[in-house]
Amino acid sequence: MAGRNFLFVPGPTNVPDRILRSMMVAMEDHRSSAFPALTRDLFPQLKRVFQCEEGEVFVFPATGTGAWEASLANTLSPGDRVLAPRFGQFSHLWIDMMQRLGLDVEVIDVEWGAGAPEDRIAAALKADREHRIKGVMVVHNETATGVTSDVAGVRRAMDEAGHPALLYVDAVSSLASIDFRFSEWRVDLAVTGSQKGLMMPAGLGIVCAGPRALEAERRARLARVFFSFADMRRANVDGYFPYTPSLPLLHGLRESLAMLFEEGLANVFARHARLAGGVRDAVAAWGLATCCRASRWHSNTVTAVVVPPHVNAAHVIDTAFRRYNLALGAGLSKVAGKVFRIGHLGDLNELMLLGALAGVEMAMLDCGVEIEAGRGVAAAEAAWRRARSAQPEAVSLAA
Ligand code: PLP
Repeated sequence: MAGRNFLFVPGPTNVPDRILRSMMVAMEDHRSSAFPALTRDLFPQLKRVFQCEEGEVFVFPATGTGAWEASLANTLSPGDRVLAPRFGQFSHLWIDMMQRLGLDVEVIDVEWGAGAPEDRIAAALKADREHRIKGVMVVHNETATGVTSDVAGVRRAMDEAGHPALLYVDAVSSLASIDFRFSEWRVDLAVTGSQKGLMMPAGLGIVCAGPRALEAERRARLARVFFSFADMRRANVDGYFPYTPSLPLLHGLRESLAMLFEEGLANVFARHARLAGGVRDAVAAWGLATCCRASRWHSNTVTAVVVPPHVNAAHVIDTAFRRYNLALGAGLSKVAGKVFRIGHLGDLNELMLLGALAGVEMAMLDCGVEIEAGRGVAAAEAAWRRARSAQPEAVSLAA
């Protein structure tokens, strides 16, 4: 198909040309004395992205799923009890992994479209007088439903209960696009992957571990080999890896971090907030609802749009793809066929999103969704023009 593909799934995201070029490298000896020059700065820079003051970052040749496993396997023991709210496909899959690793998971089931319930977390922790619960596991941004939980609120609930459990956070579709404050929120372990806010291909599973997690590592007995923090640490200290790292991805990561710091993390978050606001206005102008139940949980990286009951969302997605070269995210599991998702994270701007919104309108009209052509696009334009005039300095920051 002529023209470019519009990639608007919530990961993998568009890889900027700068990062693509940085990854076109000849292979090198990863045990040479020159190699640490590439890797040494990556760890402290990643800590800045996590907003982590004290702790260690581990970079595995894996994906977000691998980072999930690394966070659990290094800090917990077989039979350990953990508390996990489930409110979407990714919280479900993480829970499934915990169960398969032999953890005793107390699941708090929540309606899909809501976020982590602080009150129920506090109640479960208060009821656990013997402090058997070792971890509270929260997906910060549930990519399946477009819901961002209040991690600071979860931390407050844990404090209110006076409970010593560790706080584990999946920041796969939030890090480097939605404000994430590892140290301020006293997160103990956070995980991410390279193919979302970091604007890279999939292939790196990244874990940030704070002091209490590193203390738990000493006692933890779950088996770990490939994902061993200890093996990683021993090699990383000198800038090496315990096995062959993906050289192109490390070069890409260096470029990605440079781009994030050039724009400034605060500007990156503000851009995502602005773009997401326009997408939500477009959905409202179409007369449709999002999957997210309350504005406090609106995600700035993904919007799940609920289609009318007579329409199959999978048909809208396929029409957008085949006719207009636009890739939208599918509804997963419980919401399959009911929603399509617009990913708005990573390397993107207003005009790119306007193209996607126009494509969504055309595909929906083709599939019998009764909307007025141009309404959503006009609403997003208006939102972004309003945002620009309210903050004229943003123009110069982005210039
Ligand atoms: N967690 C969340 C919130 C995700 O969105 C995803 C993937 O989309 C994952 C975990 C799994 O990550 P990966 O596909 O990189 O293994």
